[in-house]
Amino acid sequence: MTVDVKLFFSSELLDWYRRNKRDLPWRQSKDPYRVWVSEIMLQQTRVDTVIPYYERFMDKFPTIKALAGAPESEVLKMWEGLGYYSRARNLQAGAREVMALYGGAVPDDAPSVAALKGVGPYTKGAIMSIAFNRPEPAVDGNVMRVLSRYFCLEEDIAKARTRVNIEVLAASLIPEGAAGDFNQGLMELGALVCTPKSPGCLTCPVMAHCAGRLAGRELELPIKTKAKPPRPEQRFAAIVEGAGEYAGKVLVRQRPETGLLASMWELPHVLVPGGSGPAAAQAEQPQRGRGRKRAAAAYAAAAAPLGAGGADAAAGGQASAAVRAATAEPAATAAPAPEQAERMALLCRSLAEETRLLVRPRRWWMEAEHVFSHIIWDVQVYLADFGFVLEHNANQAEVLAAAESSGVYRTRQSSDALKASGSAEDQQLDSDRTCLDSHVNEQLPEGYRWIGLEDMRELAFPNVFLRILREYWEERD
Ligand code: SF4
Repeated sequence: MTVDVKLFFSSELLDWYRRNKRDLPWRQSKDPYRVWVSEIMLQQTRVDTVIPYYERFMDKFPTIKALAGAPESEVLKMWEGLGYYSRARNLQAGAREVMALYGGAVPDDAPSVAALKGVGPYTKGAIMSIAFNRPEPAVDGNVMRVLSRYFCLEEDIAKARTRVNIEVLAASLIPEGAAGDFNQGLMELGALVCTPKSPGCLTCPVMAHCAGRLAGRELELPIKTKAKPPRPEQRFAAIVEGAGEYAGKVLVRQRPETGLLASMWELPHVLVPGGSGPAAAQAEQPQRGRGRKRAAAAYAAAAAPLGAGGADAAAGGQASAAVRAATAEPAATAAPAPEQAERMALLCRSLAEETRLLVRPRRWWMEAEHVFSHIIWDVQVYLADFGFVLEHNANQAEVLAAAESSGVYRTRQSSDALKASGSAEDQQLDSDRTCLDSHVNEQLPEGYRWIGLEDMRELAFPNVFLRILREYWEERD
């Protein structure tokens, strides 16, 4: 007797899903808006991570109208930490299209759904099948893996042509009247059983006729050519600490409205020319969350002989000494190691040239790393004192040279206070400051502002700066 392997797959999978499906918050309703939000959040992101974001997002924006009418900054804030922020901006743009074109109701029409901003073939298939039970395939990486294994397909799933072929195959498998459950069953099997590295064939409902497994090739499939590895980039960032009326605050800036991490907030930072960063260059496997303690040994190697932690490091406790070296403010007389001094000078000069902001990095503070799909940022973070904002017409070279010889960054005392002081040092400071004053603009560069911890509740930061700032505020408390 010949078994129809397609029919077997469809019926066994559907039956398995209906008996085993997880109780996930977006499965409590077939509201197309809820399906849409969940599917966008689940792209590139684990279910466990998405659940709290989804619940908060739906509390805040329970309807398409609420999402469409919200300020973009609020939407980004609700997405903060989830990454791939263009998803949030596109979702809101799509919601606005639904308001404008369809009176706030997602249309039960595949071409119209496919035309919405940010909705690709997979999301269109998921919305149409789950919300409207239409026989549309929803093919993502999980589904391509399952079908490649079950049918022992040799085509490279990185190729667009393969995806199209698998979509045709997936559409042919959808049982009549059960598109939503079948598509979710495929996704569920890929997530729970037919996983990338260790498929659980022995518990798989379709094992009996899985061609990949019968050929012993389940671990080789699917065939996928490797994407180009992310390009490493080194960046130097400054935590510019305020003084006087800005004491307790740090300086942040908002990114442009388009491009990578559009409209999000960040620390002032510069791209190091030709700097790939040793950590980033070696990172074959993406890592997240390179923190202060992990990076402290590198700092100790460069700064310990001159910094506050030098004695402890020499005594043999390199790792713990390094943490102290990075934590404690070095003595006023301590000079940074030459490599660090060069880096700090580059940060100072580049920020002045790019933004007219004159800051003085004081010391290295931590390293953070972030992996995007196409680049890896290795961010070296320095604590810095605020100096000035240069006038547009200021001769930067002269002003930089004058500022270099002054102590004005650190003090930020008023000219009156300096004049009133009897000390020769303060008199010199006042003179330096007067010399610079003609080049100084009290206005921060556009997009910059001072923030305290409380402002973090309102502004959306990308993960890498969120981690750095959280650590900074924690240490200050
Ligand atoms: S039998 Fe194994 S390889 Fe085949 S679909 Fe099931 S889990 Fe995947």
